[in-house]
Amino acid sequence: MADESLPSVAAAPPMSSNAAPLGHSVIPIVNKLQDIFARLGSSSTIELPQVAVVGSQSSGKSSVLEALVGRDFLPRGSDICTRRPLVLQLLQTKRKPDGAAGADEEYGEFLHLPGKRFYNFNDIRREIQAETDKEAGGNKGVSDKQIRLKIFSPNVLDITLVDLPGITKVPVGDQPSDIEARIRTMIMSYIKLPSCLILAVTPANADLANSDALQIAGNADPDGYRTIGVITKLDIMDRGTDARNFLLGKVIPLRLGYIGVVNRSQEDIMFNRTIKDALVAEEKFFRSRPVYSDIADRCGVPQLAKKLNQILVQHIKTLLPGLKSRISAALVSTAKEHATFGEIIESKAGQSALLLNILAKYSEAFSSLIEGKNEEMSTAELSGGARIHYIFQSIFVKSLEVCL
Ligand code: GDP
Ligand code: MG
Repeated sequence: MADESLPSVAAAPPMSSNAAPLGHSVIPIVNKLQDIFARLGSSSTIELPQVAVVGSQSSGKSSVLEALVGRDFLPRGSDICTRRPLVLQLLQTKRKPDGAAGADEEYGEFLHLPGKRFYNFNDIRREIQAETDKEAGGNKGVSDKQIRLKIFSPNVLDITLVDLPGITKVPVGDQPSDIEARIRTMIMSYIKLPSCLILAVTPANADLANSDALQIAGNADPDGYRTIGVITKLDIMDRGTDARNFLLGKVIPLRLGYIGVVNRSQEDIMFNRTIKDALVAEEKFFRSRPVYSDIADRCGVPQLAKKLNQILVQHIKTLLPGLKSRISAALVSTAKEHATFGEIIESKAGQSALLLNILAKYSEAFSSLIEGKNEEMSTAELSGGARIHYIFQSIFVKSLEVCL
């Protein structure tokens, strides 16, 4: 991480610590597999880890994802919201060995538009919106058909994130009356997978104990092995209150704990405040609040990124032995099949000899069939030469006699 000032996941200084290198080499392979499975249209037989955000609408899910990526590109805000699952693969480009040329570029590519690179992140947002409208209609409708987007950048960690529609209670626009149940089912289909890490996003200015996010995450992951609590909007809590007890897990305990973050407000977005500035402001916020000073490891987007990376690497580590044995089994059966095709012969002379050999064997088999010497011949009925003889002697002769 040469440039520590980058406003991104990679900018978190502790990122260079123990867990990162393994993750960097393992996760791209997993992402590739995911793409292949998605193209095949099959649900994967290999359960791949990814990170999904859940929570009620406007809790700050898209904002958290954007802060993790370090770029503005998700439709978010008070009147625009996520209405199709967005599967977001972040791929770090800096580590390529040939990295010099073009390694600093940042661009996005959609699975539905292969080969088209989006260098302008506003265009990415527009494409997501257009794709959403195409599938889910223009009037608040929701669809469970994925949008898949890859972001190539030197400033991100390799990770796959899923932005999901938020839980709503009251149908609006084209939404059906059972919208809440439908969205819950859609969310569950992602987070019930044992390989999905869940970011349960709850705004600090709402009733924390009644969090939709923690409730649905608890249904999918009752033991809390893969749920991280994220508390947003710490900056707009009621004056005199703070989220300290919540972050410490004293209100609702969570095995993997909580991280508190401060994202950009709607006003910040209207004034085009960059994520970089927002991260600086976030750091300043936590530094100026003595209640959070001794729990700094639970505060801020960089800490969330660090935690995520560690958990994800651990997750993949536990997944690898199973994956390896499945691949070995497939390899053995393929090798067996391969062996039945015979050896590869490189030289021309060898190839002609092999062909001659095959032809000789074939003609031998053919003549032994005609002569009735073949071991596999049936004894229950006539076959081979005997059958040909029978046809000529009996059937053909009789037919001729009838004709005459
Ligand atoms: P989503 O519906 O859960 O994806 O929520 P969004 O990320 O779209 O955010 C909803 C609104 O809350 C937006 O106007 C954000 O600017 C605002 N918001 C999100 N997080 C914070 C935060 O930490 N502090 C403040 N002040 N506003 C936030
Ligand atoms: Mg959203």
